[in-house]
Amino acid sequence: MSADYDIIVIGGGIHGVGVAQAAAARGHSVLVLEQNTLASGTSSRSSKLIHGGLRYLESFQISLVYECLRERELLLKIAPDLVRLVPFHIPVFKETRRPPWQIRIGLSLYAALTGFDPHGRFKCVPKDQWQNLDGLTTHNLKAVYQYFDAQTDDVALTQAVMNSALSLGAELSLHSQCVNVELGQDDCTVDYEKDGSVHSCHARVVVNASGPWVNHVLDRFTPGLPQRTVDLVQGSHIIVDGHLERGIYYMEAPQDHRAIFALPWKDKLMVGTTEHSYHGDPAAVVPLQEEKEYLLAGLAHYFPAYENLTTKDIVDAFAGLRVLPVGDGNAFSRPRGTVLLTDRPQKPRVLSVYGGKLTAYRAETDKVLHCLSSSLPERKPVADTRRLPLQP
Ligand SMILES: Cc1cc2nc3c(=O)[nH]c(=O)nc-3n(C[C@H](O)[C@H](O)[C@H](O)COP(=O)(O)OP(=O)(O)OC[C@H]3O[C@@H](n4cnc5c(N)ncnc54)[C@H](O)[C@@H]3O)c2cc1C
Repeated sequence: MSADYDIIVIGGGIHGVGVAQAAAARGHSVLVLEQNTLASGTSSRSSKLIHGGLRYLESFQISLVYECLRERELLLKIAPDLVRLVPFHIPVFKETRRPPWQIRIGLSLYAALTGFDPHGRFKCVPKDQWQNLDGLTTHNLKAVYQYFDAQTDDVALTQAVMNSALSLGAELSLHSQCVNVELGQDDCTVDYEKDGSVHSCHARVVVNASGPWVNHVLDRFTPGLPQRTVDLVQGSHIIVDGHLERGIYYMEAPQDHRAIFALPWKDKLMVGTTEHSYHGDPAAVVPLQEEKEYLLAGLAHYFPAYENLTTKDIVDAFAGLRVLPVGDGNAFSRPRGTVLLTDRPQKPRVLSVYGGKLTAYRAETDKVLHCLSSSLPERKPVADTRRLPLQP
């Protein structure tokens, strides 16, 4: 059977569009099937940070942080209108669990992992400047560290990567739900539902980049394939009227000392995120009342100007699902890197993407293409994703 495409990608989140861009840049024909609209899953519900992930140093995820910092630098260059460097502040209070020396060590390591790039610099904000920090309480405040990371618009970034893929010849079909995949000896037949009818197409390989639906999609394969068991962990954000002029604040939630962020977001103020185990339909995830209260309490604790806010003052809220492959330790301390699972070690026909970070999508999709190279025909590369500009 002749293949219509070298690759069919299931899922139009950041990983799916990243694979499409990487594949098209290598000269492959590629189709993305998205059941809804681009970035309608987790890729529109993130904290919108392009960051190394300072807190992952605590769980020794050094290579993840290194990779993310490298990708951050690259995105700052190729997507300057979508990814911008922002000052982050870490206030340390008497009751903060992580003492100043620990934060200083973390930031020093973070700076080292950037190769002591100017973007890795950090400082202690002098006491006489604390009153300029957007109304941050100074009660029991011992120190404030400032460093830099980047912020993006996750939906716009996903669209920009897809536009780049389209300009290289990739195809996209929205509102197209993959309902069945049949595996042949060296190819796959993909059935998808669009506008009430079922369409079929063939590819040499299928990339399952369906985020929290990853195992639901694998359930549709004939013959059936092994899956990684995953925990889905819900993370919510709230948006309220407010302003943060000085950048982002990275704080310990007063209730349980977890990291939470307060961020400027489109002329408003966004606070996130929570961590709750989730066991339902991924499409049905919504912020819980208790998550909204938790985030409001965190904001009010550090910024007294917001202490009278109630959940009625929340102008928007959204929840997303982290996909954490089951391994050692509890879900919340599990590695946040991507796991790539193929149907067979040689000449894979199917590759599933589990978990990962918005920040590292480009590096991960390079790995996807590398894993699939033995199944794909030789094509003439037409571009290099490290150099392709991304525009909103
Ligand atoms: C709360 C939270 C905060 C986060 N914050 C950050 C952050 O600040 N920085 C960072 O780097 N990372 C962050 N992440 C991680 C990052 O958001 C995710 O790793 C990334 O968005 C996952 O993208 P994805 O493409 O794998 O999945 P998704 O974006 O979920 O895309 C999967 C797509 O597949 C589609 N799909 C599913 N089933 C089918 C089907 N049968 N047929 C066709 N299409 C289908 C869905 O509609 C969906 O659009 C965060 C994650 C969460 C949950």
